[in-house]
Amino acid sequence: MNKSAQSVFIEYMRDNGFAMTPQRKVIVETFLETEGHFTAESLCELVKNKVPDVGQATIYRTLKLLVESGLADTIDGLDGTALYEHDYGHSHHDHLICVRCNKKIEVFDEAIEKRQEEVAEEYDFKLTRHRMYLYGVCSDCAE
Ligand SMILES: [Zn+2]
Ligand SMILES: [Zn+2]
Repeated sequence: MNKSAQSVFIEYMRDNGFAMTPQRKVIVETFLETEGHFTAESLCELVKNKVPDVGQATIYRTLKLLVESGLADTIDGLDGTALYEHDYGHSHHDHLICVRCNKKIEVFDEAIEKRQEEVAEEYDFKLTRHRMYLYGVCSDCAE
């Protein structure tokens, strides 16, 4: 597993007075092993396969801490369900979201990124982060 991501999380927990319990450790490990976009429910299932007695509330709380510590990011699904993905150590990307099959395609465009900085600058606004979702129909669904 990714040691540096784990140490970032442990540091965040310590700085904010949270205990790193064995259960939380399993949740963090499972999160780091899970690639792509996933729901909190699917992470719960994976964690419970390893440690059946972990409560759902503990998993949700830990996911929230993963987001706050910068390890995880959320994407809004079409039906309002949040999806999670790795953030720490992953290069920035934005998303194309298919409104039919809900597929998320990760994209990066230098010109769009630069333009966003320029727009912010025009308003004397310091950008710290952004999310861009472009909704439409993917090639599989267009047929
Ligand atoms: Zn971007
Ligand atoms: Zn589609």
